[in-house]
Amino acid sequence: MSHNGTISCAAALCLLLAAGPALADGVHEPIGDAVAELPIFDAHIHYKEPAWAAYPVESIIEMMDQNGVAMGLVSSTPDEGTIMLWEYAPNRIVPELRPYHDNVESSNWTKADGVDDYLARRLDSYPHEGIGEFHIHRLDTSDAPLFREVIEMAKARDIYLHVHSGADPIRWLYSLDPDVKIIWAHAGLGEPAGAVYDLMAAFPTLVADTSLREWAILRGGEGLAPEWERIIYDFQDRLMVGSDTWVNEQWDGYDDIIASNRRWLSYLPREVAEKIAYGNAARLFGRDISMGQIGTR
Ligand SMILES: [Zn+2]
Repeated sequence: MSHNGTISCAAALCLLLAAGPALADGVHEPIGDAVAELPIFDAHIHYKEPAWAAYPVESIIEMMDQNGVAMGLVSSTPDEGTIMLWEYAPNRIVPELRPYHDNVESSNWTKADGVDDYLARRLDSYPHEGIGEFHIHRLDTSDAPLFREVIEMAKARDIYLHVHSGADPIRWLYSLDPDVKIIWAHAGLGEPAGAVYDLMAAFPTLVADTSLREWAILRGGEGLAPEWERIIYDFQDRLMVGSDTWVNEQWDGYDDIIASNRRWLSYLPREVAEKIAYGNAARLFGRDISMGQIGTR
């Protein structure tokens, strides 16, 4: 605010403007229907083998186009799905590598032979920008040697781990290496909003995707749930949306999923909605993300 040519403002007001809460309450109007103009970065895509015949690569990019999804972070079982999509549309796909293939799956991957070799080989062959999404269903601290290795592979390439787990395994991973970069899949999925808030507050570098959380955030369609509103505003620089196309039914409903995500973003001021829709991903992955990518590959 400027008075008589000097820059001044009441200290209390300056603090309010600078630190928020930037509620969409008249200080910043919600973006509303203009949310449709924002490109989306879908931070939780899978292109698994059962989808390949029903949804060929060109149909996936068409669905992204139709929904204004400019780019996506993709991991697949097996990894060939991710590579097919990325080779078809490198301008739209950020590939990441999950350990699952053949008989190696979410329930047994930490005990399977050769997982470290598999990860190392594929990371050397393709430009994956994350290791994951992988699951830690039940924390077994005797898996520490494998996780130390996985963390080293990620750090050597300066890429993320994308981890589907509760809060405790995330704390444990940071205890193995406080500098590990983590995307928390589904913001913990089974964790209540209070636990999500606490973990995000405890680890300032922790990033989360909100896939499968859209209905909790929307309180079943009535606007933003207050406990989620607090997470969204306080950690607005560390959240990304996602679809989680883990089964073909998610692809069948892709339009609705993206629409639900746009709906909760529509309650936010433009500046916050932009960050969560694509701006944070642009920063984290060093990409220019825009509607200009729609129709390109
Ligand atoms: Zn997933």
